[in-house]
Amino acid sequence: MNCKLCSALFQEYLENTLSEDLINELNNHMNHCERCGIFFRTYSLTVTLSRQVETPSCVSTEKIQRLTALLCERLLSK
Ligand SMILES: [Zn+2]
Repeated sequence: MNCKLCSALFQEYLENTLSEDLINELNNHMNHCERCGIFFRTYSLTVTLSRQVETPSCVSTEKIQRLTALLCERLLSK
C-alpha cells in the first residue's frame, strides 16, 4: 500500500465495495501515514456534506476530489 493507491481507494472504501484484505491494508496505512489519515477524514466529510446539500448526481467525483485536495492543503499547511 502506498499513498497514491490509498487515496485512489477512498471512494470504494466509502461505498463499502472493497475486499476485507484491502480494507485492512488501507486502515493499516492510514494508521501510520498522517497525510492519508487526514486526507481520508477530509474526503469522507466532504462526501457526507455534499450529499446533504445536493443530490449525489449534482456533485461529480472530480469536484469532490478537487475540494478534498484543497481542504487537505489548508489542513496540512497549518
Ligand atoms: Zn499515505
